Amino acid sequence: VLKINAPRLLADLEALGAIGAASEGGVSRPAMSAADLQARAWFRLRVEEAGLQFHQDGAGNTSAVLPAAEATARTLLAGSHLDTVPQGGRYDGALGVLAALEALRTVQEAGVALPVHLEAISFTDEEGALLDMLGSRAVAAQLAPADLARPRGGLEDFQAGLGRLGITPDSVLAARRDPASLLAYLELHVEQGSRLEEAGTGIGVVTSVVGIRSAWLRFEGRAAHAGTTPMDRRADALLGASAFVQRARQLVLDRFAPGVVNCGQMRVLPGAFNIVPGRVELALEYRHGSEAEMDAMEAALLGLAAEAAAAHGLVLAQTPASRARAAPMSAQVMSAVEAAADRLSLSHRRMMSFAGHDAQWLSTVAPSGMLFVPSVGGISHNPQEFTRPEDVVNGANVLLYTLLELASSQGTTTRD
Ligand SMILES: [Zn+2]
Repeated sequence: VLKINAPRLLADLEALGAIGAASEGGVSRPAMSAADLQARAWFRLRVEEAGLQFHQDGAGNTSAVLPAAEATARTLLAGSHLDTVPQGGRYDGALGVLAALEALRTVQEAGVALPVHLEAISFTDEEGALLDMLGSRAVAAQLAPADLARPRGGLEDFQAGLGRLGITPDSVLAARRDPASLLAYLELHVEQGSRLEEAGTGIGVVTSVVGIRSAWLRFEGRAAHAGTTPMDRRADALLGASAFVQRARQLVLDRFAPGVVNCGQMRVLPGAFNIVPGRVELALEYRHGSEAEMDAMEAALLGLAAEAAAAHGLVLAQTPASRARAAPMSAQVMSAVEAAADRLSLSHRRMMSFAGHDAQWLSTVAPSGMLFVPSVGGISHNPQEFTRPEDVVNGANVLLYTLLELASSQGTTTRD
């Protein structure tokens, strides 16, 4: 039975975790920082040491490639990201890249000839230090020149960072891949939550990366003297807004589980002890795994807000703030992950990803899938982030077997 080299993978994780290591035990490797460059150089060395081909594309994505005999074969991609948030953990992103590299080494050493190019890829700036998910968006042709002109990390720092990687805005835009050249994309990642640990399940099979919408809701009432205005003559904007907050939670639990809603901020105006609130501005955000459910959630939440406003004599207005589409994963890739877990006698369950990942962008150009392994205590984006060695190894073996399964189904994979 083919298995990845567990000690080698764990040693790689350990060695990479020392690059950008912080005193608290965590890691700081923001994209294009000195530590990120050091991690890239370290990765390149591992790739060349293994006798695999090393590539860097115009978006600074770095890859190990195990080519097929036929140059015209399609590419089966697996990976994640080597960058981290400041004071982040050792597993977020790193696990997916190193497990993919280990899968390539295992296939190569076993002398297994596959009808596809196998590529282990690390995408640039997943965490968005300078431009959120730059690498995967570039590959998926989901970046416009305007995005590159207004990076969230500031234009000057962004341009300096591109220079350190030896790339330019033009080369980033040119990094798009022809969807016809891609067989599939697979990403192993730590769950960053506690659902797997609590259920005692080894492998999470991701059904979709959730969509996220946010809006400002404005409840407009009438500011009034807090002493002389009779209680029954008030149009108190805070009463209406808080009635909505109380009921939105139950609405989502009852009708949209496992979707989530959050009211993250309320501005009460004019805002004084002795003035009945005349206006409340409320920051509303909600997430779900399908666009149809997102549409239904939007209608239900706005309906509820209108009801709460009317019941308190208020007028409701809303301004959309942001919108990220839900990214369903490929049914074929999900089945392949489940077959691989079954073959290795590992328990698995389907689940949504409530955090963003490179796979959400890859899913627009290739059948894509993700698998999760348990995060101890659900802790992530924190130096305490930890995944047990046996779960690391199990996840990497499921990744390997899923890649073998997808490679052998080559030619029948369809976009869905
Ligand atoms: Zn990540």
